[in-house]
Formats: sequence, C-alpha cells, structure tokens
Amino acid sequence: MSGRRTRLAAYLDQRRRMGEPGIVPGGLAPGELLKLIGERVEAEKSVAAEKRARPRSTGPKAEADPKLSASRIANADYEDLHNAAMACTRCRLAEGRKTVVFSDGNPAGRLMVVGEAPGAHEDASGLPFVGQAGKLLDLMLASVALSRKDSVYICNVLKCRPPGNRNPMPDEIEACAPLLKRQIELVAPEVLLAVGSFAAQWLTGSTKALGRLRGEVYSYQGVPLVVTYHPAALLRNPGWSRLAWEDLQLLCRIMDSK
Ligand code: SF4
Repeated sequence: MSGRRTRLAAYLDQRRRMGEPGIVPGGLAPGELLKLIGERVEAEKSVAAEKRARPRSTGPKAEADPKLSASRIANADYEDLHNAAMACTRCRLAEGRKTVVFSDGNPAGRLMVVGEAPGAHEDASGLPFVGQAGKLLDLMLASVALSRKDSVYICNVLKCRPPGNRNPMPDEIEACAPLLKRQIELVAPEVLLAVGSFAAQWLTGSTKALGRLRGEVYSYQGVPLVVTYHPAALLRNPGWSRLAWEDLQLLCRIMDSK
C-alpha cells in the first residue's frame, strides 16, 4: 500500500474510532474510497507511461527554416515579422533560448529604443528591459515624459539571449540584423534611441566606443538617432548618469522639434 493510502486508511480508522465511520467525501464507504483512489493512481501511472513513450516534439528548432529568408523578412508585415522571429533559427542563439524577445511598448510610439540583447529576466519573460535595468530605463523615459505603454517601442539588436549574457558575436548580429531593419521600417518611429554600444555601433555604422559616439545626432535611414549608455552600464557606473541625462535632453529637443 502506498504512503498516501496508508495515511488515508489511518485517518479513516481514527475517525471510525471517534464514531464517525461514514465521513468520507461523496458519502462513500472507506473501502470504496480506497478502491477508487487505487484505480486513480493506476490510471495516472498509465498516462505518465504513455507520455514518456511518446516521441518528443523538438519545436521550431527542429524544423528547417526555409521560409525565413532575407527576402521574406524584407517584405514581411508586422505580424508576419513577429511570427517569423518567434520561430527563427538563423543563428546559434536559437539553441539555448527559452523565448524569443521581440518587443515591448507601443508599435505606434514616437520613440523607438534599441538595446543590445535579452538577459536572463528577458529570456524568461519574453519582454525586453525587465529587471533592474528595465526599471531604470522606465525611469529615464519618465524623466522626459515618455513611457513604454504610450509613446515608446522597445526592442533589441538580438532577439535571443547570448549564453551567460556574453557579448553578441558579429555573425549573430549579422544574422539578426534583417529582423531589426524590417522592425524599424514597420514601426517607423519619429526618433531612435540606441542604448549601449552594440545598438549604437550597428545603427550609426561606426566602430567608435560609445563614449565617443554619444552627444551627437545621427541619421538612420532618415530617422534622427541619439545614442546613450545602456541602463545596465549606468547601474554599474552611476557617475555616467549626468551624461545620460544630457543625452535625454538632446533626445527631448529633437522630439520637441517634430
Ligand atoms: S538571435 Fe535573431 S537571428 Fe539568432 S535565432 Fe534569435 S531571432 Fe534568429
């Protein structure tokens, strides 16, 4: 007899000794209830065995991905692009991800924020910029009267998490770039804000360090572009906050002029 059934039998014996032999759910006699539990346990065992015997689905990663060609991405509408990204296997990061982190915020927002890549929190939640860095980004946006709910669309250069939060590799950025390129075309923001060096370098086309890139207004395909520090870097280096504030003021001036 299993431990569960033994405990139940002991409980029923105790109730019987207390003069309440019939108090069991559904008005069943204790023997009948034990029989039903036994049958249920056997049924559950058999379902579990059947599940173990079934071949495992390996999901989208197991499928070849012939549809997600550069030309399909370049011509996708927003929904198609989103669906394509969710099944994307264009680079090795598909192997270790929990989720594809496509975007958050308002696709009709005036500002598009582009970060680097999902971290552990983002990989688990499927949303970009959650955790402490996400909270700081929200505060930075709120300081210039912007919010991801109403006026900001947020995404990353890479849609899948690099293992151990390592830096993105050049071939991963190259593989994912068509998705970001099309995402920017479809969202068509008034202004772009690149946070962190990988986003800043990809959007400006420069290899300069972020500290040398910030402070100027660039143009990405005709869209004004400002670059600033990644919130995670600001958390590690609070002394850069004043520079980030100046970048946000620059962003504000551009948005006010629109
Ligand atoms: S990082 Fe980009 S290119 Fe690589 S698998 Fe994810 S969505 Fe595809």
